[in-house]
Amino acid sequence: MKRIAIVGGGIAGLTAAYELELARKRGAEIDWHLYEAGDRLGGIVETTQSQGFVLEGGPDGWVSEKPWARELALELGLGSELISSNDATRKTYILIDGKLQPMPDGMRMMVPEDLSTLEGSPLFSDTARKAYAAELERASELRAKTPEQDESVASFILRHFGEEVLTKIGAPLLSGVFGGDVKTLSVRAVMPNFVSMEREYGSLIAALQAKAKTRGSRPVPSLFTTLRNGLGTLIDALVAQLPPERLNLSRSALSIKRQGKRWLLRTSAFATEGRTSKKHFHHVLFATPIDATRALLAPLDAEAAALIPTDASSAVLAALCWPAAAASTFSILQGFGFLVPQAHSTGEPQLLAGTFVDQKFPDRAPAGARVIRVFFGGPSADTLSPQSDETIAAAAFAQLAKILGPLPASDAALTTVRRWPRSLPQYEVGHLERMVQLDQHIAKLGDLTLLGNGYRGVGLPDLIRDARAAARELIPTA
Ligand SMILES: Cc1cc2nc3c(=O)[nH]c(=O)nc-3n(C[C@H](O)[C@H](O)[C@H](O)COP(=O)(O)OP(=O)(O)OC[C@H]3O[C@@H](n4cnc5c(N)ncnc54)[C@H](O)[C@@H]3O)c2cc1C
Repeated sequence: MKRIAIVGGGIAGLTAAYELELARKRGAEIDWHLYEAGDRLGGIVETTQSQGFVLEGGPDGWVSEKPWARELALELGLGSELISSNDATRKTYILIDGKLQPMPDGMRMMVPEDLSTLEGSPLFSDTARKAYAAELERASELRAKTPEQDESVASFILRHFGEEVLTKIGAPLLSGVFGGDVKTLSVRAVMPNFVSMEREYGSLIAALQAKAKTRGSRPVPSLFTTLRNGLGTLIDALVAQLPPERLNLSRSALSIKRQGKRWLLRTSAFATEGRTSKKHFHHVLFATPIDATRALLAPLDAEAAALIPTDASSAVLAALCWPAAAASTFSILQGFGFLVPQAHSTGEPQLLAGTFVDQKFPDRAPAGARVIRVFFGGPSADTLSPQSDETIAAAAFAQLAKILGPLPASDAALTTVRRWPRSLPQYEVGHLERMVQLDQHIAKLGDLTLLGNGYRGVGLPDLIRDARAAARELIPTA
């Protein structure tokens, strides 16, 4: 019987447990146990529902292009729950000089498919428009000069489109997803598709145009997918497949030690009694956040621990709700939401982004009601994190009113605030090379696997793909 421990009960750990449980039910000789430090499962994925509002505390959907989350949801019988973003109203705004300016239609991140959509766009100056046009003309030069080494996202965008595109949309878009600094983020790790497009076409615009030609008249698939009753449904459906006696909540992994061919995993037994429990396993999967994994790994192999990303950004979120009566007294722009280029500190917390939740996805709020979810990241998140929910909600409301104009009071009873400290690891330049080295160290230690968002992608589809593949490798062949 192969005994396997899974440490961490976020989406990565639960997906690995699900895959192992499938094999166990098929008769594989596996005895798995999951240990979660907190008193709930799901980690950053968390949905609350109240008075017809579906409020996400963490992720609110996944990128439709990546199939792995959808496949898992279908497998779990959630096919009828899958919904797409309302792409008819898809627009993202950028706050420029205090005004929300729409990004032109048909852009993929900062790359336009059709240069004519930039004409008349108040977002860009003539200099930026010329830089876009020149990128298409420089296709062969860009292809010939494709760098041999990894570089920062900032350097990649600068080479293609120049400073204005970088500061106005490149940096805010990337910060909206990774919460990080474009000057240090690795382009190969966070924008691999764009790197491949450059290798093939030189010009990113030319690459999008070629893709559009291949697509022909087929409709563009929706940008995001989610579940009608929130992503918590995915967690619930996974947990429903797992025997409860294998899910150990409020049990932190404290240390791990080699003993012969097995690992001795020490976990907290009962948080209130401060006792610890020790168990042997043939294999341990760490699906913990990077800081926890680094601490567990350091005594085994300090060099391996040092290869785990050290920088991570924090997020503080507030979802503000207006029931229909209050919502009818104000209007907002049509679209999915807005991004705020981060200016130098003004002393007050700056928003990173806002999502017009009820416009982005259907069924997130009762008819006529409104939900806007705002994010603080970077230093603003760190400053706000220790503050009370009320202070954070008030800061969110004040910033939102500055951007959208006067707003009626939101419903305080429905407001949700979440803090996710150091939740988004920064994949810095050279990340992929470091991950190869980390894999070599882990292989040497033997019978260990690192899962979660510190290594091969931060989005739900990547984490699901990775966790399933890793768990399958552990299934003994009959
Ligand atoms: C605000 C925000 C919005 C996001 N939006 C999106 C989105 O829209 N779409 C998308 O695809 N991705 C999004 N992401 C990214 C994605 O949500 C995360 O990368 C993902 O949920 C991380 O899952 P995980 O299982 O790796 O880690 P986690 O969810 O962090 O789970 C790790 C678990 O390990 C537990 N743990 C910690 N230490 C120990 C220990 N010593 N012993 C036992 N257990 C321990 C923790 O309690 C936790 O439950 C977002 C992230 C954030 C922060």
